[in-house]
Amino acid sequence: MSLSKLARSIAESPTLALNEEARLLRERGEPVIHLGIGEPKNKTPINAILSSAAKLTSGEVKYTPTDGLPSLKKAIIRYTEENYNRLVAPENIIATAGAKQSLFNLLYTILNPQEEVIILAPYWVSYPEIVKMCLGIPVIVTPEDGTFTPSFEEIERAVTSYTRAIIINTPNNPSGAIYPPALIEKIVDFCERKGIYLICDDIYHKLTFDGNEAPPAWSFTQKDVESTRVIVVNGVAKLYGMTGFRIGWVVAPREIVRIMTNVQAQTTSCVSPVSQAAAEGALNGIQSVVEALRLQIENNRNVMLQEMKSFNGARLIPPQGTFYALPDLRAFSTNSVEISKFLLKKALVVTVPGKDFGMEGHLRLSFAGSVKDVMEGMARIKWALDPTSPNEIYIGDRRMVRDWL
Ligand code: PMP
Repeated sequence: MSLSKLARSIAESPTLALNEEARLLRERGEPVIHLGIGEPKNKTPINAILSSAAKLTSGEVKYTPTDGLPSLKKAIIRYTEENYNRLVAPENIIATAGAKQSLFNLLYTILNPQEEVIILAPYWVSYPEIVKMCLGIPVIVTPEDGTFTPSFEEIERAVTSYTRAIIINTPNNPSGAIYPPALIEKIVDFCERKGIYLICDDIYHKLTFDGNEAPPAWSFTQKDVESTRVIVVNGVAKLYGMTGFRIGWVVAPREIVRIMTNVQAQTTSCVSPVSQAAAEGALNGIQSVVEALRLQIENNRNVMLQEMKSFNGARLIPPQGTFYALPDLRAFSTNSVEISKFLLKKALVVTVPGKDFGMEGHLRLSFAGSVKDVMEGMARIKWALDPTSPNEIYIGDRRMVRDWL
């Protein structure tokens, strides 16, 4: 069939594909444990439900302004002031269908064909694909010291005259690493001097552990929102567990937002007002829901760390935020796709291969689900891979004996 070469070159989303595989297995009654999923289990915050229900029952569900309802923008302005200490104007904001569309529209807006975007490994799977779809070239920087945080020198070495932007995501999906303030400060200073956009994907910015905080890049620049190169992407998917509402936003200089608005106008027109109202409700509502989620996730993280202690051969740099851990399993295999497939087949546990995140030999494990899932999932993984773990286990009501190690 004759199809676009570019479209064909875009990889399938491994996480969405795994979700589908897990769903099919569950449908067949298999006791699958999903450590692949990137969404918390909490219910939608009540203020979001009430606000979107009010919009729906008003019967006024029409096109909204392309860049978002003024009332949602007002809530985002307040959020930005409270969390970033920055006063921005409605013209600095565009609401989109999730942070994913924010990133797409933004990269489409700033990139000329063949311009480069620096992406720091391990990275969220979609960054390189979105850059490619916008005719840009992803340039991956991988830390050479075996950590999940590239050094400033490594980043600087990757910069060329074609570099248009650097994307940072801290706390980081998939590693849970928080980049140190000194690194962020250097990157911000560098980008401001060189005129390179610094795209901050802040989607997990409050999901941090052990009293750590992820310092926002904005806190390291003196420039105002019109002249800075720092651009913030955020959304309600992770902090409020509202993945299905598909609301994200960008805060950027007006000219960028203006062009992004044209791009959005010619593609999706606007985001559904029901979803926009939900996001507004979440942002204006009781904020203890975010802290409650953070606490639950931190507890899950602690349980995972505890379980990892008895996982001989696996090495883990403890996640400082998000709901992901990225253990190094090279002691078992350097092929993460094979390990992931093996775990699904033998132990009915869904994991995501590190290869997709630019970290071969690692597996991304999500602890966004229940403590029970974390404990049972880890027990099954150890049983399948670690010869020093007990060789019998119950999977659902089936007693399984390991006969391959
Ligand atoms: N950025 C990162 C780092 C993510 O992990 C995700 C979701 N997995 C997104 C952006 C996209 O978020 P949304 O659901 O709002 O599109």
